[in-house]
Amino acid sequence: MIDYGLTEDQKMYQKTARDFARDVIRPVAEHHDRTGEYPWEVIKKAHELGLTNTMVPTEYGGLGLGTLDSSIITEELAWGCTGISTAMEANQLASGPVIMYGTDEQKEKYLGMLVGPPKEDGTPHMAAYAVTEPGAGSDVAGMGTTAVKKGDKYVLNGQKMWITNGGKCSWFFVVAYTNKDAGYKGMSGFIVDADTPGIEVGKKEDNMGQRASDTRAITFDDVEVPEENLLGGKEGVGWMQAMHAFDKSRPLVAAGAVGLAQAAFEYARDYSLERKAFGKPIAKNQAISFMIAEMAMNIEAARQLVRKAAWRHDRGERNTKEAAFAKAFAADQAQKIATDAVQVYGGFGFNKEYPVEKLYRDSKIYQIYEGTSQIQRLIISREIVTDRQTSFLST
Ligand SMILES: Cc1cc2nc3c(=O)[nH]c(=O)nc-3n(C[C@H](O)[C@H](O)[C@H](O)COP(=O)(O)OP(=O)(O)OC[C@H]3O[C@@H](n4cnc5c(N)ncnc54)[C@H](O)[C@@H]3O)c2cc1C
Repeated sequence: MIDYGLTEDQKMYQKTARDFARDVIRPVAEHHDRTGEYPWEVIKKAHELGLTNTMVPTEYGGLGLGTLDSSIITEELAWGCTGISTAMEANQLASGPVIMYGTDEQKEKYLGMLVGPPKEDGTPHMAAYAVTEPGAGSDVAGMGTTAVKKGDKYVLNGQKMWITNGGKCSWFFVVAYTNKDAGYKGMSGFIVDADTPGIEVGKKEDNMGQRASDTRAITFDDVEVPEENLLGGKEGVGWMQAMHAFDKSRPLVAAGAVGLAQAAFEYARDYSLERKAFGKPIAKNQAISFMIAEMAMNIEAARQLVRKAAWRHDRGERNTKEAAFAKAFAADQAQKIATDAVQVYGGFGFNKEYPVEKLYRDSKIYQIYEGTSQIQRLIISREIVTDRQTSFLST
């Protein structure tokens, strides 16, 4: 039996996140977009309510929610502001490999930190996922960061780029080569405390959209990491750890794109009913009402792809293809729907005093981070060829 309804618990998570997005995130979204100030005050409240780090297992102090439950929360938070929700969600990406592959001690220390009491200054601990480098984004194997074993430590050297939460986190998940000659199988994952000597945090990048989020270059110059921080205690599996984390996090990122698209759709629908041209609301023109109908249809399709990808992950089934479907489709739709929302607003859509201009800028990144839209298609095509699947209807 297929059930498209939400459980009572899921409805409660959705309502809590929706109320939070409306009452706490939306009122400050414009401020953080304009100033680029990191949204600590929002994150503090979200942390108190349990709206961050939702997937940390209960034995380490978290709520232990699944990917589906978390995606429902993410969609609502993103509806409020994706710059702010991305800052919160980076923790889910960074903690993914630790949840999936960390030793008990690593989970207790680093997951416990995320859900535990705030720091002395009252701000919660954040985490960052550091894989991309200036010369290697889509092509992860092209990375240059190395980790050389010296006694009971690894010494890290290299530079990471575009690291979300880079300047605000307490720890990084880092992938580095422990054996460059072995290619993908020579990469290892590490948990690196952000206050370790030798870490240089770059300037906050001046991005087009999602400006509340903190994106930086991180340089490792002879950074000594204790061997107990080798993720899972095993060398050579860093690439697998980093990529499998995407199966967990891509449905969430896609859910964020759905939340943004939903916001753009609502603004466009409401404006089309209010704005008059040629003596009638512009919504009365089929060219506009069909645009709005397309938005609603594609948001629903994207949402269902997200939920199926998340559902498969929660059942312990391989969801690489479904997560790529969801990420690619939701990202492309968010970008198109935000563009169309600007169109519906006409000249006002091009102006910073109206909300859809921000959504247009914020939407673009969904086609770039967590694997570009082209890379999602690459993953899908490889999965299809590997599985020899032609129909996904029954799987
Ligand atoms: C705001 C922001 C936040 C980010 N946050 C993080 C983070 O927290 N952690 C992290 O590790 N990274 C992060 N990233 C990095 C992000 O994941 C990469 O930018 C992305 O994977 C693309 O890599 P690239 O920028 O090097 O582009 P490239 O890999 O150089 O790609 C350039 C273009 O070529 C295309 N392309 C490349 N290879 C192929 C191919 N084989 N087939 C077809 N097309 C191809 C791409 O799709 C793209 O259009 C972030 C980036 C940004 C901008």
